[in-house]
Amino acid sequence: MAGKKVGILAMQGAFIEHQRLIEKCGARAFQVRTAKELQEAEGLIIPGGESTTIGKLLFKYGLGEAIRQRALGGMPIWGTCAGMILLARTIEGMNQYSLDLMDIAVVRNGFGRQVDSFEAWLDIDGVGRKLGVFIRAPYVDKVWGSAREMANLDGRIVMAEQDGQYLATAFHPELTDDLDIHQYFLSMI
Ligand code: GLN
Repeated sequence: MAGKKVGILAMQGAFIEHQRLIEKCGARAFQVRTAKELQEAEGLIIPGGESTTIGKLLFKYGLGEAIRQRALGGMPIWGTCAGMILLARTIEGMNQYSLDLMDIAVVRNGFGRQVDSFEAWLDIDGVGRKLGVFIRAPYVDKVWGSAREMANLDGRIVMAEQDGQYLATAFHPELTDDLDIHQYFLSMI
């Protein structure tokens, strides 16, 4: 893990927390706000936050297109919560910016607005049993192509990956002290 350079998209949202856990794993983490900073990254994390806000900023400053180009060149990307929404090819019922990279369709605020946040145990394929922290979380309604489910909660997909390159979690591993999912992403780089 040591030496791997992970960019954390730092437009808005929970980027400091991801940075802390990546550093705890022994890898290098740094904040990305420009295309120049992105050049250094061997992998990218798109944090939770507000997907409409992050999307608008990605579009406005052209960073979204720079991320897409790196992704098409093979750079691994992990999106948590709002980050998962931004990776999806389809955001159901919404007309908002997306990077349009991962073969998943997502439902924003899919667990209902009345349930703002909750925790639930998840059995994650290849990772094990983990406590998931969900905050106004989306879920994955469909996966296709080479995308596959890694975990679900009562039948709703909450974690998926594609080709060992894209990782999506509806929940927030960066808000726990468990490094396993961060280690999993590092192993994809
Ligand atoms: N509900 C938010 C959105 O749609 C995501 C929430 C989160 O990232 N914790 O962007």
